Amino acid sequence: MMEVFQTVDDLRQARWENPTKIWGLVPTMGFLHAGHLRLVEQACEQNDRVGVSIFVNPAQFNNPNDLEKYPRNLEQDLDMLKQAGVDLVWTPTPQMVYPASYQTYVDVEQITQKLEGATRPGHFRGVATVVSKLFNVFQPTRAYFGQKDAQQLAVIKQMVEDLNFNLEIVACPTVRESDGLAMSSRNANLSPTARQNAICLYKALTAAKDALLSGQQSAEMLRHIMTEIIESTAMTQIDYVSVAHPQTFSELEKVESQALLSMAIFVDGVRLIDNILID
Ligand code: AMP
Repeated sequence: MMEVFQTVDDLRQARWENPTKIWGLVPTMGFLHAGHLRLVEQACEQNDRVGVSIFVNPAQFNNPNDLEKYPRNLEQDLDMLKQAGVDLVWTPTPQMVYPASYQTYVDVEQITQKLEGATRPGHFRGVATVVSKLFNVFQPTRAYFGQKDAQQLAVIKQMVEDLNFNLEIVACPTVRESDGLAMSSRNANLSPTARQNAICLYKALTAAKDALLSGQQSAEMLRHIMTEIIESTAMTQIDYVSVAHPQTFSELEKVESQALLSMAIFVDGVRLIDNILID
């Protein structure tokens, strides 16, 4: 039986009902899709109990309009989680997470300066803060994050190590639509034409990957290949196109072994991100 709670006290009580059980946690912002369910599935395989949080975290939105337009459908989300076999769902209100007296934030320093952190000031501070709160509330043994948000994953891993959170971070591969578009709650905001054009992210990433695998080691050339494909697609605007070191997120000059190919693109005003990790 899946239980759903709003307050921290109710959630904690249910979580500690049987203290011998091992818990896995999947943090989400809701409007769930197969990418989220992949995380839930893995959590169900590896733990006795699975908790999911659904919270559109205002602290990680640097743009109020983006926060307002973020898609939401709690009823549908709860149906999907029930089907998936989740035990406990936390759906707090913003006032419960950030009461008027709130004043504590978590800042991961260096790796948040690049890419997403550079174009979305304050974003990772909001992410790290809410995820620390989720870890404290659920006290999971494992927590699940998608490779789709590669830099977020790295920020959370760094935070767990730095602050000695006693849990394991499990990374899950990016789940894609049949044409390659990475699943995202934000895809719901794309018009049919924009949805078609949004394939350009995956096309650009795979073109760069293919060039790299056939010997193109110049990061500048790889960025150029991706930029050309995006720029030749209607309705798009580039936020960034990157070939970076997968641990430091600094831009590379020459790709030796590892690289994170990534980008953030506006398609008809909807901001989409995607990446491919070359190992
Ligand atoms: P969100 O609700 O967008 O904040 O995402 C919640 C979690 O699901 C994060 O760890 C994301 O990285 C992960 N996630 C989102 N989309 C995908 C996807 N297409 N494939 C795998 N994981 C995903």
